[in-house]
Amino acid sequence: MKPFDVLLGFDMESDIGSWTPFHEGLRCATPKVLEVFAKHDAKGTFYFVGLSAKEVAESVFAVQAAGHEIGAHSLFHETVGDPIFPIPGIPPLLPSEVFPRLELNTSWIEEICGVRPVSFRSPRLFGSTAVCNALERLGYVSDASYPMYYYLQRMEPYHPSAEDWTKPGTLNLVQIPNFANLSIESHDPLGRDRDQWPKFRTESSHDLLRHVDEFLDYLDRQDVRRRVLAFYFHPWEFHPMPQDLIHFGEGAVLPAAFLVKNCGDYACEQFDLFLSGLTARGARFKTAAEIARETPPLD
Ligand SMILES: [Zn+2]
Repeated sequence: MKPFDVLLGFDMESDIGSWTPFHEGLRCATPKVLEVFAKHDAKGTFYFVGLSAKEVAESVFAVQAAGHEIGAHSLFHETVGDPIFPIPGIPPLLPSEVFPRLELNTSWIEEICGVRPVSFRSPRLFGSTAVCNALERLGYVSDASYPMYYYLQRMEPYHPSAEDWTKPGTLNLVQIPNFANLSIESHDPLGRDRDQWPKFRTESSHDLLRHVDEFLDYLDRQDVRRRVLAFYFHPWEFHPMPQDLIHFGEGAVLPAAFLVKNCGDYACEQFDLFLSGLTARGARFKTAAEIARETPPLD
């Protein structure tokens, strides 16, 4: 059994990401998630949306008290980087908005918990070169925004280029790719069917662990120095989510079925089984900042 590093990242945001303004998941499911972490003696990084951290400050305190890393996940769950697909009502930030918004995101979280975040993840993994450069200026050490399912190239943490975040370069910041099972064929125009998320919930822990095994085998055949698997989850997945139209003042939203399927108890059970499976395979749970600090510069 060859050990490998695992980043368990939680994006601490409103229910169903940008599709509702509610925080039932953050409020009710954070304690359940922390319990599963404690049971497996695991640690992770919890990336807070600035607004969500303000609305449910007790979830920030609970995560911090449990000894996990507090990271940032944008100010309002807006599109901070290059969109892979369009979201109605959320146009991408103007280049001039990126730095000031990430700066506010950083200071809001620091004001709440007293510790300045040094790890970031872009909403929907829509990262960009401008985001990486802003994070570098703000003193961040890691960004876990790179979606392997879409960009396909980087399979281990790397220092990105200041000119193109998807390529290795000389920034101090470390980019941590989110793993996708690149060993299987894709039948999706965006390649999203190879992504890890949300298979633990829409399928099962068993199904996701099969993708882990296949991807670890695949990595063994690639020219990589380290085996690091980064995952992303959300607290709202561990609380029952509405299955029907959600009505607002001027319209209604029906989130795609995969977003809300099996949220609640099933997700909790499967997450618990998933951590057991990872431990049995030799996983070493690390925070994003720890993984970044163990990433050497480009040769
Ligand atoms: Zn998010």
